[in-house]
Amino acid sequence: MEPMFDSHAHYYDARFARETGGSEALLRELFRADVCGIVNIGTDPENSRLVVAEAAKWPHMYATVGIHPGDGQRLPDIDAALLEIEAMLPDAREKKIVAIGEIGLDYHYDDTDREKQLYFLEKQLQMAEKWALPVVIHDREAHGDCFDAVCRHPQLTGVFHSYSGSAEMAKDLVRRGWYISFSGTVTFKNAPKVREAVAAVPLDRLLMETDCPYLAPHPHRGKMNHSGLMRYTAEAMAEVKGITADAMICQTRENALRLFDIQI
Ligand SMILES: [Zn+2]
Repeated sequence: MEPMFDSHAHYYDARFARETGGSEALLRELFRADVCGIVNIGTDPENSRLVVAEAAKWPHMYATVGIHPGDGQRLPDIDAALLEIEAMLPDAREKKIVAIGEIGLDYHYDDTDREKQLYFLEKQLQMAEKWALPVVIHDREAHGDCFDAVCRHPQLTGVFHSYSGSAEMAKDLVRRGWYISFSGTVTFKNAPKVREAVAAVPLDRLLMETDCPYLAPHPHRGKMNHSGLMRYTAEAMAEVKGITADAMICQTRENALRLFDIQI
């Protein structure tokens, strides 16, 4: 099998400690087997510092730093948190910080404060522009507002992760230079819309991810996810495109390396 590149994971999540005694042994095993690279994604200042430290430890691990809409909404002083994130950016390349993320909008929960979310999304898009980094967008039930927000920054690029929008919007994003990433949800029986979006995205703009420990692909749905399970996602995406799983793994790996400017 071709070595796989996981473009979106959270290996600091407490679920790894609960279910496997921590991610250390698991990562060693994955890197020895069929995983050639992982982007470990921050969601607040604290775990952003953590993913940077982890990236320094593992040769094939990379980091993103940023404030997730759900996490940021709970922070009492969002401006101080934004300053903490920006303080990490001046030597981003040496720290293996490959993007700002994950940032975006999440309108799923009843206590959603849209105004606050839009405020710190916009601040982080400006940061990405200033430091010339791509962004990783989290868009949950906020497709229109996420699309509008990134369109206000036409010189920015990045990826919409674990994509759940329409095929039409995916095509529109691709025209504007964006990448679209798919997780285990592409294997779910009740998710034909996700497969329609895969069909709409050209091969050279597709990314693949786990979002682990969440979103394990079928037949592991609901269990703890990890980068090794991504082959099920590759198979499902390959089937939509009429290519082999190996070809999909190879293509999505090349795309991720291009977007994040990584040489492995
Ligand atoms: Zn994530």
